[in-house]
Amino acid sequence: MAIDTKKHKNRCSFCGRSEDEVGFLITGMDGFICDSCAVQAYEITQEALRKSKPGASNLNLADLPKPHEIKDFLDQYVIGQDDAKRYLSVSVYNHYKRLLQKNSGDDVEIEKSNIIMVGSTGTGKTLLARTIAKLLHVPFTIVDATVLTEAGYVGEDIESILTRLLQVADYNVPEAERGIVFIDEIDKIARKGDNPSITRDVSGEGVQQGLLKLLEGSVVNVPPQGGRKHPEQKMIPVDTKNILFICGGAFDGIEKKIAQRLNTHVVGYNAVRNSTTIDRGNLMQYIAPQDLKAFGLIPEIIGRLPVLTYLQPLDRHALRAILTEPKNSIIRQYVKLFEMDNVKLTFEDAVYEYVVDKAIEYKLGARGLRSIVETIMMDAMFEIPSEQRDSFVVTLEYAKQQLEKANLARLQNA
Ligand code: ADP
Repeated sequence: MAIDTKKHKNRCSFCGRSEDEVGFLITGMDGFICDSCAVQAYEITQEALRKSKPGASNLNLADLPKPHEIKDFLDQYVIGQDDAKRYLSVSVYNHYKRLLQKNSGDDVEIEKSNIIMVGSTGTGKTLLARTIAKLLHVPFTIVDATVLTEAGYVGEDIESILTRLLQVADYNVPEAERGIVFIDEIDKIARKGDNPSITRDVSGEGVQQGLLKLLEGSVVNVPPQGGRKHPEQKMIPVDTKNILFICGGAFDGIEKKIAQRLNTHVVGYNAVRNSTTIDRGNLMQYIAPQDLKAFGLIPEIIGRLPVLTYLQPLDRHALRAILTEPKNSIIRQYVKLFEMDNVKLTFEDAVYEYVVDKAIEYKLGARGLRSIVETIMMDAMFEIPSEQRDSFVVTLEYAKQQLEKANLARLQNA
């Protein structure tokens, strides 16, 4: 018992300091702990927990989810997009296999297959990436290509992509070197014009050249704090050979390039797909590497992204499903919000159809569903917590009235 019997002062049972010498003491069954020892104990626990987490260094193929299981998991959160889900599941599983191959001892070296996902905005690319991150056993980060510029220009250096990965790996370099990076908006670094030599294209081709280095696999000096604000920081060398890169982009207007190619190449590559079998309504499914080149990606980059997959535009049916079906669907989130105030929230079925109609009308896609529901629910969310009621039904009439009341123009610009 750590009680100072002479002066009857309580002491920390860990460092022995008396209550006068510390911030405060927490009393236990048979002793005390001071504030600073409690903080230290917390840090030690966190460190131990981090070490015991299944990390990239102790992967075991038998314990890892199989492609089928990865896809089943994605299905719970992401509607449709089966092709992209299959490609992603296989790529992630193969990534694990590559990380494990060192132990096999034969000459066959499995090379990494970076992925590129093409699909209009709001079709679920980032959602897929975020969802898959939930079940990964390697460090994972999402970065945005729009902010990247060549070294020396306003913006972020290409190496900053790896800063984020280092951060999620708690600066454990070997762990980060086996991680996965999702590069969003890769289309924004496409070459700006057909003739690259007239003006310098610091956020386009220049960045692609820089990115190429990372994709190919090389040792890159990474600023641990990111950015260029800390010129004195000591660079950390990171080998990107085993880092899997998944790129995503909307590639607005790429359908035109696909259509051009399909029209002009009736013989040869597309000989089997004569014009009668081409589904003109969804050209994205025919995407091929040469379309990315026509869009402005340099061939070297395309060569380093050998897995090319696409996301379908979301139709009515998909939008309707997105509202209610995913595990954390928009509607479920509102029901939960109201539940916390002990209010049972329900929607008339017709409201869902109405929301989908509006999302289509404003061309807002899945992104618009949330802003529309938010607008409909705003008044209710403001009033109901102070009212004595235990249920609230959103009728079609109420939804219409709320949406019309709100500034529709504001929604369209959202
Ligand atoms: P992208 O990255 O393709 O532009 P996001 O993944 O950010 O689009 O999608 C925006 C939002 O729309 C998501 O947060 C999600 O709520 C919804 N969403 C989009 N596509 C889907 C989908 N296929 N299934 C479920 N929700 C989706």
